[in-house]
Amino acid sequence: MAEIIDGKKIAAEIREEIRREVEGLKETSGKVPGLAVVLVGNDPASEVYVRMKEKACRQAGIASFEHRLSARSAPDKLLQLIDGLNQDPRVNGILVQLPLPGQFEEGKIIEAISPEKDVDGFHPVNAGKLLLGEEGFLPCTPRGIMELLKRSGRLPDGKHVVVVGRSNIVGKPLALMLLRKKKGANATVTICHTGTKNLGAFTRQADILIVSAGRAGTITAAMVKDGAVVIDVGVNQIGKTPEGKRILAGDVDFEGVKEKAGAITPVPGGVGPMTIAMLLKNTVRAFKLQQGRKSERITVSE
Ligand code: NAP
Repeated sequence: MAEIIDGKKIAAEIREEIRREVEGLKETSGKVPGLAVVLVGNDPASEVYVRMKEKACRQAGIASFEHRLSARSAPDKLLQLIDGLNQDPRVNGILVQLPLPGQFEEGKIIEAISPEKDVDGFHPVNAGKLLLGEEGFLPCTPRGIMELLKRSGRLPDGKHVVVVGRSNIVGKPLALMLLRKKKGANATVTICHTGTKNLGAFTRQADILIVSAGRAGTITAAMVKDGAVVIDVGVNQIGKTPEGKRILAGDVDFEGVKEKAGAITPVPGGVGPMTIAMLLKNTVRAFKLQQGRKSERITVSE
């Protein structure tokens, strides 16, 4: 029976560390980090994510500035808003909640965000830095997975890690982070996708299996090696309660796989809370980088 990796608990510890750090920064600089959250339209899932992010900011002492645009807004309006936020000294990080309505070209919007304020780590400058092994902003979900592995004592060093999914926000950046030549990474990495023939033949080789496919039931017990660590990124709505609340499931058949794996993350309560904790961490890092230019008393590490 697998050990459950409690992402909620680990994320709460990180958020408390961040809260203390923000308190210290306020003492030394008289300022607090600020995050601007932009929501276009009223997609119910996006509304929930934005509320969760703002609550996490408040609890950590980070200022959050919410900006809402109607679903029918012209792309120029959003570009103007981002331009203003790029200039605003109270705003250290900018997050545009995705997905955007159809009239927006997401790539163009992301490129409009200053790379120094790109706390989602999606800007091509930060994606390029990750590829080259330079320091930039790392996307929150893969960064959260790396932190989850580290803090639960399951370092990927020397392990065969199989990643299912090659999205720009999870699979690809995660594979690059796992590949880095440093402690807490240094894994042998295999990436699988819908073009992979016989997925199970690869996933069964994984010491650590990380699944970001976006389909419930993608991984069954027969596809997992005995004792493997299984990280489930997927968030799939599989129904609604009589009260109308969403019922969520990951990409992994949790009940079956937990009998075979050595450790597994639940959904919800695994990767999701880590994503939000890393957003706060990136915002504090942006603040320190931007303030650090003015004050020698602020030092920045990853
Ligand atoms: P995505 O853009 O939805 O793409 C899914 C990826 O999985 C694609 O690369 C696809 O391959 C691959 N895939 C799908 N079905 C597969 C299968 N049966 N076998 C092998 N590969 C398969 O991915 P995403 O944005 O990474 O999201 C994935 C899931 O994670 C979603 O449920 C999303 O809601 C969740 N998510 C959660 C968090 C969090 O914080 N918890 C954050 C981000 C995403 P192709 O490239 O060949 O199409």
